[in-house]
Amino acid sequence: MLTQSLRPLTRLFRGGIPLRAMLVAGFLVTCAVPLIGFWHWSHNTVLDNEFEEVEERHLLLARNLGAALERYHDDLISVFETFVDKMSAGEDLTFADGLFEKLRFRHICVFNSATGKLTNSYFHKQNACPDALDAERVAYFQSLAADSTQAAGTSPVMITPDGATVLYTAARSGPAIVVGAVNTSYFRELGKRISFGRMGHAAIVDQTGRVLAHPLVSWEEAAQDISAVSAVQRMLDGESGVERFYSPALKGDMIAGFTGIKGSGWGVMVPQPVVELEETADRISGSGRLVFVLGLALAVLIAFFVAGWFSRSINAVAEVARRMSQGDDSARVGDALLAQPVLEISELGKSYNDMADRVQEARSKEIALRVTAEEAVAAKSQFLAIMSHEIRTPMNGLLGMAALLRRTKLDDQQSVFADRLIDSGQGLMTILNDVLDFSQIEAGHVELCNEPFDLCDTVRSIAALMQVEASKVGSVIETHFDDVDTAPLSSDRNRVGQVLLNLVGNAIKFTTDGTIHIRVEAARDTDPRTFRVVVEDTGVGVPEEAHERIFEHFVQVDSSMRRNHGGAGLGLAISKRLVNAMGGEIGISPNTGIGAEFWFTVVDQPTGATAPTQPT
Ligand code: ADP
Repeated sequence: MLTQSLRPLTRLFRGGIPLRAMLVAGFLVTCAVPLIGFWHWSHNTVLDNEFEEVEERHLLLARNLGAALERYHDDLISVFETFVDKMSAGEDLTFADGLFEKLRFRHICVFNSATGKLTNSYFHKQNACPDALDAERVAYFQSLAADSTQAAGTSPVMITPDGATVLYTAARSGPAIVVGAVNTSYFRELGKRISFGRMGHAAIVDQTGRVLAHPLVSWEEAAQDISAVSAVQRMLDGESGVERFYSPALKGDMIAGFTGIKGSGWGVMVPQPVVELEETADRISGSGRLVFVLGLALAVLIAFFVAGWFSRSINAVAEVARRMSQGDDSARVGDALLAQPVLEISELGKSYNDMADRVQEARSKEIALRVTAEEAVAAKSQFLAIMSHEIRTPMNGLLGMAALLRRTKLDDQQSVFADRLIDSGQGLMTILNDVLDFSQIEAGHVELCNEPFDLCDTVRSIAALMQVEASKVGSVIETHFDDVDTAPLSSDRNRVGQVLLNLVGNAIKFTTDGTIHIRVEAARDTDPRTFRVVVEDTGVGVPEEAHERIFEHFVQVDSSMRRNHGGAGLGLAISKRLVNAMGGEIGISPNTGIGAEFWFTVVDQPTGATAPTQPT
């Protein structure tokens, strides 16, 4: 699975991923995953904490402001009512001057409620009272006034003709209606005291949701209606709490603590853009990012050194193995690596050296055994060569005597015995010659002598020579030299003749009343020039399963053949060694149904004597 997934990388690195790259990548992944997790976790936790803190803080601020405004409203109403009481009773009214100033009264105007005409005015140094009120205004102020001298509360914020924003309160005094106008400056001052972050502020609204105080001055001046904001609606219902909402003024999400103010119906809220909280969380978690980057850099650095050290150690062992595979048996892992503090690495080095010692020992043993075996084979071949050579001398004497005996006057039975003696002797001579030849080749005593000769001539004369033998079993030999360039080629003519004699001899041996074809063909597109000699017969053939074996020494397809045809199973083994020594090849063609087809190639060789054949 892992190997498969790494296959594209193997292609990228042309044959193998370096150990160092693998280890560094592994370290990186192992460190990056928990670090990224930590980074995200810290960012989210900081953000959550920010929200919790802000919720508490903003609500507290809103409630504090609300308490101040509640007191202000109570003071406003009670001072105004006391004033109206005293005015109705005709008492001294100077007590009120300082209080009205503090409570930001613009003026107090007394109107005849029937005509709407101004009958009296107080505290109107800067802002004079209007001379008269229209009937609608009178009705409005009457509705604002409670029974007798009690004020019901304040009106919603209104804009005077001179552009000031004011609240009104009213009370009855006999047939007159007393109207007090209050500036909203106290609200603005109170609102301005709350300012935090970049956009954190306080907003105060009247009982209808119109702005009394707001950081946007234009909203204050226009007494902007913000009752559509969900938090405003809730505080107008008297609730207090925390809410997130979208602010069209600031074009973003806000989080606000809000509270409705008892008695007046006003509301105060302390909103802050959510984006500011996110920025704070980002800033705090920025240090988490620093930890992440530093951690990763440290991991890469450690991985780089550790991986480098590992790969150096393993490369050192690989280098020793490479030297050994190239034949340097003395190559061993050095002491520096064996003294490594890492157990596995030093164990690897030690085990490798132990293995190398054993391999070297086994190789020495193998070489010694091979030398012994080669010596034994050479001794055996030498023994065979000497023995067969020594036996041939008396055998020649025996055959010569038998031939002389045959020429003397013998009766019929003696002639038959003499003929048998000569045949058996010749069979024995053939075997002796084969054994001598084979043992000479095995012992490396065959020297080749290359000289130019005409291959077709050689084939022709061997065919003529063997025709005598073939006739004895009713067979004919035919030669074919179609399209062959008869220009002389250089090789060992005698050895080529010997191989051909053996193949044709076998063909005659295993064919009765048949035809033996000898073909000479030029092998195409070869350098040096090569000819193929094919000997094909119509005899018993060679079973397919024996094709491989028959070129080994002492192999015969059927041992009963030895009794009928003689031979020791050496002819093809000798032929193969000779052909190979002359640079050619020998083989048997696949069966076609009739007889057997053997072939060998004769290669044009440099003229002259060649080194003796090597023992096989
Ligand atoms: P031998 O001297 O015993 O013939 P060879 O090595 O020349 O030994 O041949 C090995 C065996 O291959 C033979 O014993 C025979 O069984 C088989 N053989 C070789 N040539 C032919 C052939 N032309 N037809 C049939 N069998 C053959």
